[in-house]
Amino acid sequence: MNVYDSDRITDALAPLGYQTTDGPEGADMVILNTCHIREKASEKVFSELGRLRMMKEKARDQQGRNVMIAVAGCVAQAEGEEITRRAPWVDIVVGPQTYHRLPELVAKIDPGTRSRIVDTEFPEEVKFDLLPGEHAPRGPAAFLSVQEGCDKFCAFCVVPYTRGAEFSRPVSAVVAEARRLVATGTRELTLLGQNVNAYHGEASDGKTWNLARLLAELAEIEGLDRLRYTTSHPLDMDDDLINAHRNLPQLMPYLHLPIQSGSNHILAAMNRRHETSAYLAIIDRLRSARPDIAMSGDFIVGFPGESDRDFADTLALVDKVGYASAYSFKYSPRPGTPAASDDRQVPEDVKADRLEALQQLLNAQQFAFNKATEGHRMDILVERPGRREGQMAGRSPYMQAVNFQGNEDQIGDIVSCVITQAKQKSVSGELDNLKGAA
Ligand code: SAH
Ligand code: SF4
Repeated sequence: MNVYDSDRITDALAPLGYQTTDGPEGADMVILNTCHIREKASEKVFSELGRLRMMKEKARDQQGRNVMIAVAGCVAQAEGEEITRRAPWVDIVVGPQTYHRLPELVAKIDPGTRSRIVDTEFPEEVKFDLLPGEHAPRGPAAFLSVQEGCDKFCAFCVVPYTRGAEFSRPVSAVVAEARRLVATGTRELTLLGQNVNAYHGEASDGKTWNLARLLAELAEIEGLDRLRYTTSHPLDMDDDLINAHRNLPQLMPYLHLPIQSGSNHILAAMNRRHETSAYLAIIDRLRSARPDIAMSGDFIVGFPGESDRDFADTLALVDKVGYASAYSFKYSPRPGTPAASDDRQVPEDVKADRLEALQQLLNAQQFAFNKATEGHRMDILVERPGRREGQMAGRSPYMQAVNFQGNEDQIGDIVSCVITQAKQKSVSGELDNLKGAA
């Protein structure tokens, strides 16, 4: 979502004449769009700000040039005052729900004074309504935020505090943005939301549409060949959405559905409000709707009170599901969340051992998944040149990164490839000349 927000920030500033650069050197303004989800992510902001301070001073002293520095995103939201205290060279602090105001904020900054602006309101107005309709092409595969914020309050998570209450964009706004993206060359859309499957957007028929209905509508757009959505919560995985995986050919056979832990006791302590049996039942139903669906998930190890036994339950669940890919993290206490003040914190070395054991298992599953696709023919959406000479990179329906020998004219095409070699995080393929490019 930060990638999407950064693009929209670029759109918001374009009317002022700003364009993106490849790096901070020489830029008139540097915006850090930040993440607060784990401590490590937020710490990076302050070390990055230290580097930017030197850059700003150098530009001032050597070139007499003022570089504006802004911090956006969830660290800005949560630690706005702290940022201006620890990093007084920051000019603007703007939260995830107020970045549409950046043009006004930029205009208010007077380079001659040391004035600073902090705007971390949760405003009445909806930023999506005020961001420009126009935008630069986003490429063959693009993101589109349809839902934001969260009311679920998992005991470990800052999202409800930094992104605010749950909100769904109206259907017409989503469809209009999707059409604009397709008109500029996008063929695959990933619908975004912190709880994207809780989507309940107002439609022009006066009804509230769920995510399945929205996906069906988007599937009608000519030229929009692939649809995905992320991230989903198991509690909101309704029958309509499961059936969409059976009925919508554009909906790709890959689903990121985090469970966080395989222990019912920990799930309850996390306030996830479901048990492992419910999660496994959803996966069974998904697999009967779409037998080849590849699963992905998120896991937290070392949540307060997690015992060896609880962790063994997580390994057992992973074993049962068989993930094509997954993300796993050490529990990170976040300010203001209930779990942070729990006195049963798990020692760092135990967390590290558990993370290593879990990642070993998940990596083995990912490799096995990639290996099982060897020899198969797949449609690859070509996104960019690969790292090696003559190589192109794209994605399989199962979200695998695929590299093959091709040419840049193929960017934006869906080509047929035979998978020749599995690697840990990607696969190699060869263009299948029988079918040719689409
Ligand atoms: N809404 C999604 C997750 C959004 S946050 C869901 O409910 O599944 C993305 C991921 O970051 C989470 O799935 C979780 O695995 C991880 N995460 C969130 N807070 C964390 C914390 N305090 N420590 C470690 N990982 C965390
Ligand atoms: Fe955070 Fe997801 Fe839980 Fe919401 S549902 S509080 S975003 S982990």
